[in-house]
Amino acid sequence: MEFASFFISRIFTMGISIAIDGFSSCGKSTLAKAMAESLQFLFVDSGAMYRAVTYYFLKNEVPIHQPKVVLNALENIHITLEPSPNGNITLLNGKDISTDIRDMAVAEMVSKVAAISSVRTAMVKQQRQMSLHNNLIMDGRDIGTVVFPNAVLKIFLTADIEVRVNRRYLDLLSKDTLVSLTEIRRNLFLRDYIDSTRTDSPLLRAEDAIVLNNSNLSREEQLEICLLLAKKRMK
Ligand code: C5P
Repeated sequence: MEFASFFISRIFTMGISIAIDGFSSCGKSTLAKAMAESLQFLFVDSGAMYRAVTYYFLKNEVPIHQPKVVLNALENIHITLEPSPNGNITLLNGKDISTDIRDMAVAEMVSKVAAISSVRTAMVKQQRQMSLHNNLIMDGRDIGTVVFPNAVLKIFLTADIEVRVNRRYLDLLSKDTLVSLTEIRRNLFLRDYIDSTRTDSPLLRAEDAIVLNNSNLSREEQLEICLLLAKKRMK
């Protein structure tokens, strides 16, 4: 781990943090939210932040290959995540965009936007600030490796690809969005590839993360395992 990043994180991390990382559609947010409810922690869906930036870039036709324009655009982006029974409500400059950020247009673009270093710097800063006065559970791709390298518990979630495709399909369907299994599979492969191979903060399992394959676990079983781990670590 880079010393500066570890040092900064030590200064800023005052609450207890739990990191859940993993590939797309492994159920990270579902697990993180349930754990947060049980432990009375704040739940933060960091993917929603990258999706919010992407939504703004798409709406405002920000050219992602022009670093200065991207930096200027970031100045105008204020993201707030509000807790709600259904997860985080994502506000972009005060407007609720929770549904919009789940669109396929955003899913197609988000990994490219999340690979931009200036975007990551801005998001990581905000994510660390959230932990100043809160115990939190954050899910994402770089939470255990970069954002909170000293998290009390790091879980790296995996699931078989077809399980993930089906979960995503049903999730979108429950939100009245019909996307074919082929299209979902293609998008998951693409995002995982870009997320794992980018130069800045690639999706990696932290050395001290516990790997959990939840393909054959029910939500309840998975929650029970992770809560036991969390309680043990926090003793
Ligand atoms: O978690 P979710 O699938 O909503 O994340 C959307 C995208 O945001 C990911 O595919 C990834 O490109 C990016 N992301 C990231 N770092 C995080 C969280 C999400 O790069 N911590």
